[in-house]
Amino acid sequence: MSAAEQRLNLVDGDWRASVSDEWAEVRNPADLRELVAEVPAMSAQDVAEVYAAARRAAGHWRRVSPVTRGRILLQAGRLLRERRAEIASLLTSEMGKTLAESLGEVDKSADFLEYCGGLGRAPTGELLADERPGARAWTVREPLGVVLAICPWNDPLLTPARKLGPALIAGNAVVLKPASHTPLVSLELARALADAGLPAGVLGTITGSAGRLGSALSANPEIDAISFTGSNEVGNQLHDELAGGPVKLQAELGGKNATVVLADADLDRAAATIAAAGFAQAGQRCTATSRVICASAVANGLLERLAQRAEELVLGPGAERTTTMGPLVSLDQQESVAGFVERAIASGAALVSGGARPSDGALEHGCFYRPTLLSGVSRSSEIWTDEVFGPVIAVVEVSDLDEALESVNESTFGLAAAVFTRDLAAAMEFAERAEVGQVAINLPTSGWDVHMPFGGFKSSGSGSKEQGLEGMAWYTRTKVVALA
Ligand code: NAP
Repeated sequence: MSAAEQRLNLVDGDWRASVSDEWAEVRNPADLRELVAEVPAMSAQDVAEVYAAARRAAGHWRRVSPVTRGRILLQAGRLLRERRAEIASLLTSEMGKTLAESLGEVDKSADFLEYCGGLGRAPTGELLADERPGARAWTVREPLGVVLAICPWNDPLLTPARKLGPALIAGNAVVLKPASHTPLVSLELARALADAGLPAGVLGTITGSAGRLGSALSANPEIDAISFTGSNEVGNQLHDELAGGPVKLQAELGGKNATVVLADADLDRAAATIAAAGFAQAGQRCTATSRVICASAVANGLLERLAQRAEELVLGPGAERTTTMGPLVSLDQQESVAGFVERAIASGAALVSGGARPSDGALEHGCFYRPTLLSGVSRSSEIWTDEVFGPVIAVVEVSDLDEALESVNESTFGLAAAVFTRDLAAAMEFAERAEVGQVAINLPTSGWDVHMPFGGFKSSGSGSKEQGLEGMAWYTRTKVVALA
């Protein structure tokens, strides 16, 4: 790719620049000197055109057979797989994750499109009893209309695919807003859908900064629903702005996911799983394990194994085959993670491993931070209560399952939690009492398949699930029809 390649937005079936011809840069977080590409910095006028096209297309798309809609999604899934290497490489360039992680993300994004494509043949309503003589009644699940999908930068292909698959198969038109750091693979997803035959206007993309667009992005009268994934700050702001109005909102927000290790656990398995769940994608996953709650009897053994795992990770550009942990997405994110670790140490936590930017000169132009392990953490400290969204695992010791569950549930977040134990009764009690949307037993807090309903409790989200049949239902409204 040349230094200043310009990538365009999908607007009413065409690929367009902004009317003002302004551009936003996308830089490689492994080396910020590298300009990966530029995308249109869209204006309020551009955005209004995307919504107008979506409204026009929504009227037609809802009448296209779900089987035909499904065929388009299945073909788009095939195109993602054909373009796998190219898209994964682009994903690594804009977001920083390793090539292996990017390839996995392309595969899972194709899974979403294929799963939802298959749902084109699923029932769309039910027959109901009607007491009136000769009358029949049934339900119909119909699309909402125009859906705005707002996505974060950490899984820039997967999160859009998770929203577009169910929204499109249900018959909605979608406007996709990728994060400013990572618009490029979202545009590739749009390209796959357009190449697969999606009619003009059914999908539109909006690149550029949400802050710059302001209400032009989320307050357009054509919007019927918003599916948002991102920070609690922005999610709560949208919630307040939309309160009392007709626009339906789904918000998937932050996490502070705990893994409990009981005294009878397989420590090697627990350490390997926790390190993978905590440090993959440099900890930038909403389901990353960031809290470890360990029985005191095995705490030393676990810490030793976790430290070894952290130190074995090879930091570097995600595009290099030897790299096992890439950079953070931006300098702001690097600064934020470093601040959390410094304040944790100042408040009494012990640094077991990491805790610094790498000193290797080859990495000095990137946003790297070493995988970090902190022990002796206070349960009232910020490092225990707040989402870091970086490669940092904090460890506390507890005496038994009751105390462990109390610690899991003291968080304001409720996305995912895991337990490591060989005791079936303890595992089942954990599953019942953990106040989170996803519970894993001897498995990582991350990694939930496309057909499994996914979403957090408490401040981790608005309560509705994405993925699976429940996820698809969110993109519909139910109508009851009676006939005599
Ligand atoms: P963010 O700052 O909230 O941004 C998310 C998206 O919202 C971006 O596209 C952003 O656009 C846009 N945005 C920003 N301000 C907006 C506004 N006022 N109105 C409408 N849209 C606005 O979050 P992030 O830093 O990208 O992502 C990290 C967060 O996402 C973490 O908290 C993580 O836990 C959460 N997350 C949750 C899940 C889940 O399923 N629960 C999954 C992944 C990530 P710009 O980039 O242009 O500002």
